[in-house]
Amino acid sequence: MTNKKPYDYLIVGSGLYGAVFAHEAKKKNKKCLVVDKRNHLGGNVYCENIEGINVHKYGAHIFHTNDKFIWDYVNSFVPFNRYTNSPLANYKGELYNLPFNMNTFYQLWGVRTPQEAKAIIDEQTKKHRVKKPGNLEEQALSLVGEDIYHKLIKGYTEKQWGRKATKLPAFIIKRLPLRFSFDNNYFNDSYQGIPIGGYNKLIDGLLNNIEYRVGVDYFKEKDNLHRLADNIVYTGKIDEFYDYCHGELEYRSLRFDHQILNQSNYQGNAVVNYTDSDTSFTRILEHKHFEFGMQKNTVITKEYPLEASNKNEPYYPINDTKNSNLYNEYKKMALQDNIIFGGRLAEYKYYDMHQVIGAALAKTKKLFQNQ
Ligand SMILES: Cc1cc2nc3c(=O)[nH]c(=O)nc-3n(C[C@H](O)[C@H](O)[C@H](O)COP(=O)(O)OP(=O)(O)OC[C@H]3O[C@@H](n4cnc5c(N)ncnc54)[C@H](O)[C@@H]3O)c2cc1C
Repeated sequence: MTNKKPYDYLIVGSGLYGAVFAHEAKKKNKKCLVVDKRNHLGGNVYCENIEGINVHKYGAHIFHTNDKFIWDYVNSFVPFNRYTNSPLANYKGELYNLPFNMNTFYQLWGVRTPQEAKAIIDEQTKKHRVKKPGNLEEQALSLVGEDIYHKLIKGYTEKQWGRKATKLPAFIIKRLPLRFSFDNNYFNDSYQGIPIGGYNKLIDGLLNNIEYRVGVDYFKEKDNLHRLADNIVYTGKIDEFYDYCHGELEYRSLRFDHQILNQSNYQGNAVVNYTDSDTSFTRILEHKHFEFGMQKNTVITKEYPLEASNKNEPYYPINDTKNSNLYNEYKKMALQDNIIFGGRLAEYKYYDMHQVIGAALAKTKKLFQNQ
């Protein structure tokens, strides 16, 4: 007779996928153990309290969705504020509103009406219209014209991807929405905001009364961990899971440089993008503005894009043909295994938060439908 293992599920990774999975499994009376190799819970939404400010340690995280169910779901753990994402662009000291809208067009050209703005954009795009743009630069010029491209897109995108825009595929920029109203709200979604008190409250709510261990790398403790549960939910890198047998999937990474400043307000906005190519970082975040903070000091973060390597964290999957084919090889292997692969690293997919929550809810609904 075999002894029953102490847990129903071992969940590798305490990011949103792992936390939502654990929460839903617990509702079905499943016993879960969540492990994470970092020394904290929450994956990339983790916040550290510095100077009374919830600092988004892995980059700005702004929750947005059109799905009322998901909005109500997250708000059932922690109320969200109504932070509206309205980033600015700083191009060599000139400030522009984003996303591209009538405020931006006024700042670029002094135009006051949609007709005047459309006329300039039409003039600047028509000479670049081609049937099939061969690279990102051609694509962007055909969509928005020279001024917007050169001041607000080129430098930022080249820094982000570490390549010249002429060497980047056109598909990276499918659309570049132009808004002909004076509206700086970045997202079109019905719901957006930041958890009041930070994202840790959301993760703590999801993992309430669920056992976890941090500082535990699944690969270093695999044998011991497998003795604890038959079912495994894995949210780490899929290529690592299979020991890179088909090769390594590529990612873009970031370095975050956090600084405490002895002043109450550094830039007057949570997010400012630096769109020139001479400045090596892409953005400066000022965290207190996500929650309308009035603290004495402030904390800012500069984001420097990097190639991902064994030393750098993998953040953005590069979903080009080469990597997508490689991922499909791993996915074929995953389909043969009795393991649940979920989340952005295991599915090699750029998920926003609402999407990863939706994916974990869909998975658990299907898995536990008869229970
Ligand atoms: C810079 C940046 C900004 C973003 N901004 C936004 C935004 O504004 N709005 C938005 O909706 N979304 C945003 N996102 C996306 C958001 O972060 C993801 O949707 C979400 O965090 C993904 O959750 P996850 O559980 O799939 O992955 P993760 O949060 O990465 O969690 C995976 C966890 O698995 C752990 N792990 C991996 N391997 C092992 C192992 N071997 N052993 C143990 N543990 C392991 C990791 O330590 C990690 O904690 C942003 C992402 C980044 C990178």
